[in-house]
Amino acid sequence: MNDLTEINWVTGIEFYYYYVCIRKLWLFSKGIGFENNSDRVLQGKVAHEYSHEREQGKEVQLEDIKVDILNDLVKEFKITSSMKEASIMQLKYYLFYLKRSGIDKEGSIHYLKERKVENVALSKDDEEEIISVLEKIDNIKKQDNSPKIKKQSICTKCSYYEFCFSKEVDHE
Ligand code: SF4
Repeated sequence: MNDLTEINWVTGIEFYYYYVCIRKLWLFSKGIGFENNSDRVLQGKVAHEYSHEREQGKEVQLEDIKVDILNDLVKEFKITSSMKEASIMQLKYYLFYLKRSGIDKEGSIHYLKERKVENVALSKDDEEEIISVLEKIDNIKKQDNSPKIKKQSICTKCSYYEFCFSKEVDHE
């Protein structure tokens, strides 16, 4: 089956940000970013390069979405499991995209610091959630104004921290 129509696809990082913070998602989607200087993004790049040193696989680019398929599994590499739900849903999003492209795969997330591997498979419920989340992401990206600040523990590690907390009051 190849069924990519009627869905507003987003990049993997946008999908991930939906689960991390919708304000971050909006800021990123508007090109407002300090991401190149972010330690977290740097760590992500390191993780990505590290993955290629460890295993020989192939990188597959489908439209705006790029996935690593290694040993027949879609693999995602993260430094830690601190954003576990977001990481799992990002990988499920890749599996969903591949399925709609006619490619059925399972995946695994490698948390490098913890040396843990988590296997991930896509269920029917996941597919319904992903479709619903894609609609929500589309609506968030269309908003003229940024979603309100919601202070959470990850804020101090976020590349938008100064942007959020030096200019606006907390709207918790
Ligand atoms: S600092 Fe916090 S509220 Fe601001 S974008 Fe980052 S995670 Fe969201």
